Formats: sequence, C-alpha cells, structure tokens
Amino acid sequence: MGFLGPEQPLLDALGLDRDPRSNVKAEYGSYATSIPGVFAAGDCRRGQSLVVWAMNEGRGVARECDRYLMGATDLP
Ligand SMILES: Cc1cc2nc3c(=O)[nH]c(=O)nc-3n(C[C@H](O)[C@H](O)[C@H](O)COP(=O)(O)OP(=O)(O)OC[C@H]3O[C@@H](n4cnc5c(N)ncnc54)[C@H](O)[C@@H]3O)c2cc1C
Repeated sequence: MGFLGPEQPLLDALGLDRDPRSNVKAEYGSYATSIPGVFAAGDCRRGQSLVVWAMNEGRGVARECDRYLMGATDLP
C-alpha cells in the first residue's frame, strides 16, 4: 500500500523483529532478519524509498540468499 509500510500481520505471523518505523529489521548489506533464512530488502526493510534502491537491494539480497544456501557466492 505504498507509503503505509509493510503489512504487519505477516510480520507478526513470522515473529520478525521490527525497526522503530515498523519496517522489517535487517542490516543493509546482509539483509538478514531476526529469523535465520528469512531476508528482507527494499521498501519493507528501508521504508518508502526509490526504485533504484529497490533494484540495488534486490540484487544484494539475492547474493545473500545464495551465500546462505550455498555457503559461498559469486554474485556481485
Ligand atoms: C504512489 C507512489 C509513487 C512512487 N513514485 C516513485 C517514483 O517516481 N520514483 C521512484 O524511484 N520511486 C517511486 N516510488 C517508490 C517505489 O515504487 C518503491 O520504492 C519500490 O517499488 C519498492 O520496491 P519493493 O520491491 O521494495 O516493494 P514493492 O514494489 O512494494 O513490492 C512488494 C511486492 O510484494 C508483494 N507482497 C506484499 N505482501 C505479500 C504477501 N504476503 N505475499 C506475496 N506477495 C506480497 C506486493 O504485492 C508487491 O508486489 C513510488 C511509490 C509510490 C507508492
């Protein structure tokens, strides 16, 4: 819903930690949430932002998922 932030029921159901602005808590670069194997990127992590950031974080979180699953990654 655009500027309203991520829907909270899904985050509640998973038991994900939130930041003070009710986004999913995950560090830029690792994208790892408080639950191992669950990653967050883009607006749900950063808050309302820009498409270029969504693309940047999408590529980054794909890399970190690959690293988590395979133990190493060649993705940039
Ligand atoms: C009105 C408006 C105007 C904007 N204008 C600009 C602009 O001019 N330039 C610019 O750079 N940025 C603009 N933005 C911001 C930009 O659209 C967002 O930053 C970007 O789309 C974020 O991408 P995202 O992939 O993180 O999230 P989203 O694009 O929101 O994608 C999240 C996806 O997850 C899906 N989803 C949610 N919950 C579930 C669920 N439980 N199960 C399955 N799927 C689910 C949603 O349906 C959605 O497809 C605008 C945003 C809005 C709201």
